[in-house]
Amino acid sequence: MPEKSRAQTTSNKHPSAIAEYHAHIYYDPTASRGRAEHVRERIAAEFPQARLGRWHDELVGPHPQSMYQVAFPGEMLANFVPWLMLNRDGLTVLLHPETGDNYADHSAHAAWFGAVLPLRLEVFRKSRSD
Ligand code: ZN
Repeated sequence: MPEKSRAQTTSNKHPSAIAEYHAHIYYDPTASRGRAEHVRERIAAEFPQARLGRWHDELVGPHPQSMYQVAFPGEMLANFVPWLMLNRDGLTVLLHPETGDNYADHSAHAAWFGAVLPLRLEVFRKSRSD
């Protein structure tokens, strides 16, 4: 029996399951919206493939702070993620894949820059009775 078979568990997921990625750029409407605007303008100018979402000063979904979303294809990952690491201007960023499993994508599959914010993951647990 080859050694490899032991690694084949049900949790083994292939990156081909990732349809696209989201970067959520968090900001404080009173303290850091200006920086968030500047980062957004630079993303729009340097990464035309990125799709910029609306500003959400009001909290939406699992997000515990104001934010906007940047959706982008896997082909952008190698250029955009290092750029974001160097140019997020102190803002907290959540990077997550879109595999169709919202709960896992925003928890086990997620990467954070700057800080880890406590997401309200219960919004993805609609089917649970407790
Ligand atoms: Zn997202």
